[in-house]
Amino acid sequence: MTKKEICPFADYLINSRMCSPKVGCSKHGVCTINKDSQCKDHYCEALDAAADQLENLPNTPPTATAKAASVASDFGSWLASGCPMRSAGERERIKAICHGCPKYKDNSCTLCGCRLSTKISWATTDCPIGKWDADKNVKGEYRKASPSRIVDLDLVGPPPGRVTCNCSIFNFRGRRVFAYRHGWGGADVYLGDINEEYKVTNARRLAIPQNDWNAGGREDPRLFEYQGRLYCMYIGVQMRGSGRRIFRTNVCAVGLDDDWNVVSNWQTGFDRRAGWEKNWQFFEHGGKLYAIYKIHPHTVFEVDPETGWSKKVYETKYPNHWTHGALRGGASPVYHNGVFYSFFHGYLHSRHDKGTYTAGCYTFEAKPPFRVLKMTPEPIHVPDPSERPGPSTPYVVYPCGAVHENGKWVISYGHMDQSCRIAEFDEGAVERAMIPILE
Ligand code: SF4
Repeated sequence: MTKKEICPFADYLINSRMCSPKVGCSKHGVCTINKDSQCKDHYCEALDAAADQLENLPNTPPTATAKAASVASDFGSWLASGCPMRSAGERERIKAICHGCPKYKDNSCTLCGCRLSTKISWATTDCPIGKWDADKNVKGEYRKASPSRIVDLDLVGPPPGRVTCNCSIFNFRGRRVFAYRHGWGGADVYLGDINEEYKVTNARRLAIPQNDWNAGGREDPRLFEYQGRLYCMYIGVQMRGSGRRIFRTNVCAVGLDDDWNVVSNWQTGFDRRAGWEKNWQFFEHGGKLYAIYKIHPHTVFEVDPETGWSKKVYETKYPNHWTHGALRGGASPVYHNGVFYSFFHGYLHSRHDKGTYTAGCYTFEAKPPFRVLKMTPEPIHVPDPSERPGPSTPYVVYPCGAVHENGKWVISYGHMDQSCRIAEFDEGAVERAMIPILE
């Protein structure tokens, strides 16, 4: 059923003025199309009419018995689900809805009688007339998320035709900075500012000293902060032999001063490195520099910030519910609401084309051993096949940077190996797209 069509089960009644089961179908109790008590996504007109009826009732508070039953029902569901709480961003979003509702009075809902500051904090509660609903992830369910806005950045050349892609947006001391890969073979890293309209200014080539481990190119930057200094991780392409073939790729990083001059330049190393080292995700905790080496099992390295020498310090196993291929790294993790948010990419191999790169999100504890808490089972952003430039290019959404601002996530990513893009996501949508991992 699409928006504005009449629901086929159009025989609704108002069951009660308590929170559950609220408005429902007299035949089925719930909308059987999206298995949701409010038929919200499909916009069922009959349900809306019933909700209007409720909304237009005079603003008289429910009886003490009805109110007690309503609170008891909410509290029982919340306890049974393990007492999950809503994020600050999600609370603000719901508060704004209630404040604009005629049923709101003195921090209470006059329909269910609940005190809203408490009701909104519990992630299992919902509005009696479906204006907002329980977070599905607390029940092991989730909702697909997608960007609320996509911006294609105009960053070609110089010289003309030289691609820019795989870009990293980062909040450094309140300043939005932006790094990107410029060129394909023999690429360089550029760094600039990016404003509210996503216009990149002051961009200049980072003067990364060339050496054996990066002479073939400096690619796919990810910005991070350590001890108050801005760092840029990049992939160094190492060449070998008279034909100058690519020998291996190295995870490297440069430390920058306040004028973005390179003051340190190192490549990571550890005992059992692979030939192709790429998507490490650096973050700081307790004065130490760490990197996510592998998402599953969640493998964390401690990195020497002077030399880049690394060692595995934590590895935690968890059930992997990701549905879109190999889990690979992405943006540097962002500390938010007491946990780290990590936007990663999944890679689905295909024998028939060059494969598909998609974006997902997971959170992990902000303390050792940095266990994974929640994860999106499905991508939150996928490439549009119609935008692929040709059969030699994979389908690519390749996230390399993330910032959180004003209740939304802003993700920067490489698009189809050809351009830089920004995707905005509503914070609540990302939360609802994740399922709990750590019980
Ligand atoms: S919960 Fe909030 S939005 Fe829903 S009816 Fe009550 S006041 Fe209105």
